[in-house]
Parts: sequence; structure tokens; C-alpha cells
Amino acid sequence: MKQYILALDEGTTSARSILFDRECNVVCMAQHEFPQIYPRPGWVEQDPMDIYANQYSSMTECIAKSGVSPDEIAGVGVTNQRETAIVWNKRTGKPVYNAIVWQCRRTADLCDALERQGCAELIAQKTGLKLDAYFSGTKIKWILDNVEGARELANRGELLFGTVDTWLLWKLTDGKVHVTDRTNASRTMLYNINTCEWDAELCALLDIPVSMLPEVRSSSEIYGEMNLMGAHVPICGIAGDQQAALYGQGCLQKGDLKITYGTGCFLLANTGNAPVFSRRGLVATVAATCAGEPVQYALEGSVFVGGAVIQWLRDELRMIKDSADSEYFARKVRDNGGVYIVPAFAGLGAPHWHMRARGVITGLTRGAGVEHIIRAALESIAYQSDDVITAMRSDMNSDIRVLKVDGGASANNLLMQFQADISDLEVIRPAQKEATAAGAALLAGKAVGFYQDLLFDKQLNTVFKPYMAADERRRLLDGWRRAVKACLASEESL
Ligand code: ADP
Repeated sequence: MKQYILALDEGTTSARSILFDRECNVVCMAQHEFPQIYPRPGWVEQDPMDIYANQYSSMTECIAKSGVSPDEIAGVGVTNQRETAIVWNKRTGKPVYNAIVWQCRRTADLCDALERQGCAELIAQKTGLKLDAYFSGTKIKWILDNVEGARELANRGELLFGTVDTWLLWKLTDGKVHVTDRTNASRTMLYNINTCEWDAELCALLDIPVSMLPEVRSSSEIYGEMNLMGAHVPICGIAGDQQAALYGQGCLQKGDLKITYGTGCFLLANTGNAPVFSRRGLVATVAATCAGEPVQYALEGSVFVGGAVIQWLRDELRMIKDSADSEYFARKVRDNGGVYIVPAFAGLGAPHWHMRARGVITGLTRGAGVEHIIRAALESIAYQSDDVITAMRSDMNSDIRVLKVDGGASANNLLMQFQADISDLEVIRPAQKEATAAGAALLAGKAVGFYQDLLFDKQLNTVFKPYMAADERRRLLDGWRRAVKACLASEESL
């Protein structure tokens, strides 16, 4: 009798394997970190063999320590760090170069050159993305242009490209399956999200042979089978991490929004069965969709410095010992005392997009104390998220009334209440803390009939309702806007 689904959650710094039961509860988990490689400032790589080896070892550890027999596992779902590009030799199975990680900026100049050629609009219309080094396309081109012999091999059809999901599936099926899902494809800058096909014109623009690219499938169907410690188990769910979290949070209707409050904050809103092309600096992307269902889309925006501002209080300013202490100190004062922090440590992202701006603290008076600074730092996470929510509301031309949350900093009740108040919406924090892995498990479980109905509403949630008066909200947001102006002025003075 099948009792479990195994989720493989391949993140940026670690590979995790999690077993879920019939109610989508976590039964057992194992996590293995792998090394990051920084060959030059701004460059980030990983060894694809490390990625695979750590995913594999976390998987066997998870199953071994759970005591579950592999025969009891109904299916495997994969979720992964997105945009990271791997190119390998079809015959030998060896990568021709390290994985170029999503954070890597080595192709920024190439992107600038494409921008000067006037390609940004074409790329935006076809892919929903901003022309940026973040996405996979220019990373693939870099490998073909810079690794000796790679271009000839690619032209002869001997190289394969994959994001991390594709690489793992290929390895786990002994090279039998070369597929990805639409959520991952939509982050490559080569995939037309209107037609849901690889785009020949964009591939030609970046000089990438279409023959290297994986077949694109839905996020919930059987792609192949793997040998899991002797048992033959279908691999039947794939989604990029943010789309998996959107699905795991049950955001399946137009207007449903989730925020993952981690080091940065990732906001995704379901936009239903049509892409919404942003006028406010957000990107359009494909949401996890099951086989046979109309394709769902999402709008995405991210905040570069989210929980990281709390780490800054801890590590640089040494105002707190532990991130969780931020709530205790912030509660010691009634409000921010007029103090605002704009933590633009590496520029301001969506919807402002000022990469040269630097952080500011405004509104300091003689009475401003450490608690005010801590409170302002926490509130800055909510204000920055609110700027993205406002852009989403405007792009979608509709209101957003409910927000589902996950990630480390969502544990902070003061922050969650402040987000509800400042964005005037209801914040729902599910008891299930593993939204991303749960999303992959739910997608896999759906494909093999393991999860009959979706389980989202059966969970115990914590709800934060908005209580703030409208004029108070307006006054605080005015202060934030003035602080952002000061931050942008810092850019001009650089
Ligand atoms: P990531 O997946 O990006 O590593 P996590 O989801 O593990 O991030 O969240 C860690 C981040 O959340 C850190 O930046 C940390 O400072 C912040 N954080 C964790 N707990 C709290 C808390 N109680 N209050 C505020 N921030 C927190």
C-alpha cells in the first residue's frame, strides 16, 4: 500500500529530501549542504555532480532514517532553485562546465549589449521577463562561447541543457528522460509564454541550438521512473521553487498571493489563465499547472533585502543576538518614532529598479533609540513588500485581499500584523511550514491519484486581520515614500 510522497527540494545552498504522508504532513527530512564556488567577484557556480550527489545522499538518508520501505512511496516530486544553467554531454553524462547559478552576474555586459540592440521589448513580449543576467539564456550562451569545443559539440547535437530539475531527472532516470516543466522553462528567456513553446527567434538571437533544450511538460504528470533503493517509483511532479510554494500555499485562483519571507522576499500572485505583462517592473511567469488543465500564470516581484536586514542588525550593528529577538525589542516601542530604514544595500529592486541606490535611515531625532531602529528594520520588510503588492494591484487592475505567507521571517508576529495593516489585507500563515516542498509533493501526488482533493483548507492557520485606520496607513506610507526618495537621492550623489 502506497503511503508516502517524496519531495526533492534542491535549493541554492542545500539539497533536502522530505517524505510527506497522506495528509501532507512532514514525516521525515534530511538536508545536505553543498559548496558554492566564487571564481571571481560577482560570479557564482556549483558543481553539478555535487548537486546530484547531495540530492541523492539526502534522499537515501531520509528514507533510511524514516524506516519507510521505498515500495510504500507513491511518487517523487522535484522543486528547485530556478534559472541555474547546466550543460552536459549527452553521451558521457559529464557536465562541460560548472552550473552557472542564478545569482551569477557574468553575463551583465551581454545583457547591456542586447539592450542597446533594442531587444528588451521583444524579450518582454515573448517571455514576460526583464532582459537580465539572472535568467538562464545568456548563461547557456556564455558556456557555448567560452568552453573550448562546446559550440561544435552543441551544433552536432551532442550537448544537452537543463535547469536543475532537468539535470536531476536525467541523472535519476539514467539519462532516459530529458524534460522540464513550464515553470522552469519560463525562467530561461527562451520560452514563449504566450504559445508555451521554445522560441526559435530568441534561440537564434542567443545562438543556442534548439536541439539542446529539454521537452517542456506540465508540472504534474509522470515523466519517467527511477530506481529508488530497489523500488521503481514514478517521478511525477516538477516546479521551480517559487511556483511550487505558490501551489503549496493553495494559491490556485486569480488574485491569490503568497510571500516567502526569507533572506529576500519573493512575491507571486496568480493571474489566472492569461499572462499579465507588467507596466510596473514585475515579471510575468508560468504558474504550476497540472496535465490537461489550462495553463495558469503568475506575476512575480522580489525584494532583495528582506530577512537580511535583520541579519544586518545582528551581525553588523550587533543590536540583537538572534533574528527572533527583533520582535521582542520592536514591541518595546509604540511605533517607529518617525524612523524609516530603506535597506537598499545592493540597489532597490521591483518596482523601483535603481541598482545604484544605497540604503538610508531617515527621521532620526534625539529620542530615536535602538528599539526604533529595530522596529524600522522590521517594518522595512513590510513596506518593500507593499510596494510590490501595490504594483501587482495596479498591473492586475484588481484588489488583492488575502496574502499567504511562509519563510523564516514569517514567524515574526509583529511583522505579519504590520504587513496586514500597511497593505490592508488578511495575512494567513499556515501551520505547514514547508510550502515549497509540499507544493512539489502535492503536484506529484495529484499525478498518481495519491492526493484526491487538495488539502490546503484542512490546515491550522494563524490569521492576521488589518486593524489600522486608513489615515494612519496613509501617514505611514507617506513617510516611507519620503524615505525612498531620500534613498534615490543617495544614488544621484554617487
Ligand atoms: P532563506 O531560505 O533565504 O535562507 P529562511 O526562510 O530560512 O531564508 O529565513 C531566514 C531569514 O529570516 C533570515 O534573514 C533571518 O534573519 C530572518 N528571520 C528568521 N526568523 C526571524 C524572526 N523571528 N523575525 C525576523 N526575521 C527572522
